[in-house]
Amino acid sequence: YLELRNLGLKFGAEVVLEGVNLSLEKGEILAVLGSSGAGKSTLLRVLAGFERPSSGEVVLSSKVISSTDSLVNPEQRGVGIVPQEAALFPHLNVFQNVEFGIKKLAAPERKTRVSELLALTKLSGLADRMPDQLSGGQAQRVALARALAPKPALILLDEPFSALDAELREQLRSEVIEILRREGATAILVTHDQEEALSLADKVAVLRDQHIVQVGSPAEIYNAPADLGIATFLGDSI
Ligand code: ATP
Ligand code: MG
Repeated sequence: YLELRNLGLKFGAEVVLEGVNLSLEKGEILAVLGSSGAGKSTLLRVLAGFERPSSGEVVLSSKVISSTDSLVNPEQRGVGIVPQEAALFPHLNVFQNVEFGIKKLAAPERKTRVSELLALTKLSGLADRMPDQLSGGQAQRVALARALAPKPALILLDEPFSALDAELREQLRSEVIEILRREGATAILVTHDQEEALSLADKVAVLRDQHIVQVGSPAEIYNAPADLGIATFLGDSI
């Protein structure tokens, strides 16, 4: 469903990603783990179409969406993104923020879809609020609802909980996964929080030294880390 083939990216002379290979089935949730500077956000930016790869390609639903010589526009590739800190449109209320990506739908369908998402993200009472009147957790839920609205083929979440306090983060983690599951979304969740990755995802990929050093189920990664580096990295937070 999603295939990354020998993907590489350089910023000038600096190699950030090299030889990244990965495949994901429809409806799967993948967590990408890696320390700061490992290239996690850059990988998502390539998938979202904001960066052109220096080598390799990305295939989504049997279509090449990124390669060295072709790039499908971010708006046209069916990829939704939830950034680290909710970047909501400040002049639009909650309802309008969620509605933003589905303007092409007829008004009644649009309203139904937004209401459905607001209910799913427990925001139904806040439809008229402006972004500056929301808590951090509420704003992140709006960002998630907005990204899900057009039913993207792939949804990317870049450390969506890191700005929140521990208690709220814990609660939101499980909520967000439940929302993604109910929507049947195919998702990639970037995090440097090992516990988050191991408890939530179907698959975990460890990014280090510009490429993916191990990918497997959370149990495989936890019980059989491929090398000492991964074991140490996992041990750091558990
Ligand atoms: P963090 O956990 O801190 O968010 P990350 O894994 O998301 O880290 P990236 O933001 O992907 O890391 O950065 C990977 C590397 O690429 C870093 O060395 C960074 O300095 C470099 N980098 C990122 N964006 C650019 C850019 N636009 N130009 C040049 N170098 C960049
Ligand atoms: Mg990052």
